[in-house]
Amino acid sequence: MNSPTNSDDTVDVAVLGGGIAGLTLALQLKQSMPDLAVTVIERQAHPVAEAAHKVGESSVEMQAHYLRDVLGLREHLDSAQLRKFGLRMFFPSNGNRDIARRVEFGQIEEAPLSTYQLDRGRLENHLGARIAAEGVRFLDHRRITGIDLRAGDEPHVIEMSDGGERRTLRARWVVDASGRAGLLKRQLGLAKPVAHQANSSWFRVAHPIDIGTWSADVDWVARTDVERGPYGRRGGARRFSTNHLMGHGYWVWLIPLASGSTSVGIVADARIHPHSGFNTLDRALEWLGDHEPQCAADVQAHRDRIQDFRVMRDYAYGCKQVYSQDRWFLTGEAGVSIDPLYSSGGDLMAVSNGLIVDLIGRGRAGEDISDRTVAHNQLYLLLSEIWLVAYAQQYPLMGNSQVMVAKVIWDTIMYWSVPGLLFFHGTFPHLSEHPGSLVNLFRAFKIHSRVQQFVREWHAVDDRPAEGLFADPYTLMPFIVDLHEGMAAGLPADELDQQFATNVALLEQIAGQLVTTVIDQLRHAPEPAAGSQLETWLADPLLTELRVLYQRRQETNPIDSGWITLGRQSPSIA
Ligand SMILES: Cc1cc2nc3c(=O)[nH]c(=O)nc-3n(C[C@H](O)[C@H](O)[C@H](O)COP(=O)(O)OP(=O)(O)OC[C@H]3O[C@@H](n4cnc5c(N)ncnc54)[C@H](O)[C@@H]3O)c2cc1C
Repeated sequence: MNSPTNSDDTVDVAVLGGGIAGLTLALQLKQSMPDLAVTVIERQAHPVAEAAHKVGESSVEMQAHYLRDVLGLREHLDSAQLRKFGLRMFFPSNGNRDIARRVEFGQIEEAPLSTYQLDRGRLENHLGARIAAEGVRFLDHRRITGIDLRAGDEPHVIEMSDGGERRTLRARWVVDASGRAGLLKRQLGLAKPVAHQANSSWFRVAHPIDIGTWSADVDWVARTDVERGPYGRRGGARRFSTNHLMGHGYWVWLIPLASGSTSVGIVADARIHPHSGFNTLDRALEWLGDHEPQCAADVQAHRDRIQDFRVMRDYAYGCKQVYSQDRWFLTGEAGVSIDPLYSSGGDLMAVSNGLIVDLIGRGRAGEDISDRTVAHNQLYLLLSEIWLVAYAQQYPLMGNSQVMVAKVIWDTIMYWSVPGLLFFHGTFPHLSEHPGSLVNLFRAFKIHSRVQQFVREWHAVDDRPAEGLFADPYTLMPFIVDLHEGMAAGLPADELDQQFATNVALLEQIAGQLVTTVIDQLRHAPEPAAGSQLETWLADPLLTELRVLYQRRQETNPIDSGWITLGRQSPSIA
């Protein structure tokens, strides 16, 4: 793993940073082009610590597909990591002292496509050994100290310190995967602020904290303890979900790790919960005691088993450019960092790595990749925007169970119908060759952005408490299992374009249903307080168009509005 570097070493690709993005990119490059000379330079010595290593422990469908199917890590995932039991959320109720009284969002049984809880130390150790076995030179315990980008065909020069000794490496392509160090981003002045300010603190406990034991209420226990769920599988254990304890302006994660530890993290909007309230272990435990007493009690019972404590201030940022025809690229958090709510960091990394492999492969084959580099750059930045609008300004909604359940279902449908479908089908590197799909992507983004604004407006006029309800997305919307499985349908190109168009039409229908149902609910509310907001919505051209599309499509494809009303009947719409 540690072969020394000579001063005149020249490789095809130098990957700067061997975290998950750099290691997976190196593996994908080598698998796509076995004779490519790839070197990864990583500051930390391997093996790294298990459990208490990094965040980025929960995966969703795209990252899971990337690791399992694109990179072929199925055996590692099945044997050394945990299968995740979906996303689960609990909304506030009565001081959060009884989990069974909180509105719960989550599935009853395993979803068809697996996702995983990742012990990042374990994964990076596996990837480090794996890339070395595939012929990548992995230089761990080396610190990159300089990057000299050269023009024309001259190789770029990377300087590193190797146990105090200075060494250099030359490379035709340089990929910055240095995470938050953002080596190239800083050097090239590519940082771009985003309109989302949030902070996080987290720690790992060497104990399996089990949310499933927080209540003995038989009905609550029975919800996921079933012989057959809606699509015929046995129920699952809540502990294996990525559990989110939601509240106004914050959420707390509980993620089980294969090493037996539990990752616990607080994420909060800086304007609602200043970081100074939870930026040390003592303060974080006190903060949990105030906002999430059941969680705090379980953690306090195992306080002597806390393994680490980390903080990240203002974790969200953008980037002006991630790929350049001057033979440099940024991937992972060396480029953009958005928000962990839906675990999308690993998804963006997976997309980015695929686009970089495409560009290096074509550039190496002598193709002029200037236009393609611009197109890939725009596509990646657009996708990160699509994710960003789901998080920015949305933390104030997090304690509103009705609005959030509808939003999470919308975001899930959007995710499976658009980026999920395209990523599983390997479409992103070729998207510029499918103008119809590009149009659909922009249409989906436009509707998605308006829906995000709509749920904010809805929350501002309707924040009534709810208790004890259970929202299983598959029961509320049985057809979404088709969207979920449809990602992995393996459709040929023409059928895929058609399926994408169908998915976008479905998005139009359910966005229209959301607007229609909320307006109907508020009109019939006992104390109508939303008069001017209703007027504004009724006069909005895009919302009007969506309401009309909904009415039309509902006739041939009826969808129950229970996903918007926490399963309750809407006043005048069946
Ligand atoms: C609070 C929080 C929670 C998150 N949770 C999730 C989640 O559940 N799921 C998810 O998918 N994503 C999550 N993310 C995002 C996730 O953490 C990132 O997507 C992922 O870890 C980024 O990986 P990376 O390889 O880009 O960066 P890193 O893993 O940080 O790797 C960068 C590497 O570069 C090395 N390096 C830096 N500087 C140098 C140097 N000078 N010389 C040599 N090496 C260097 C570092 O040692 C490091 O190993 C979360 C993010 C935050 C902020």
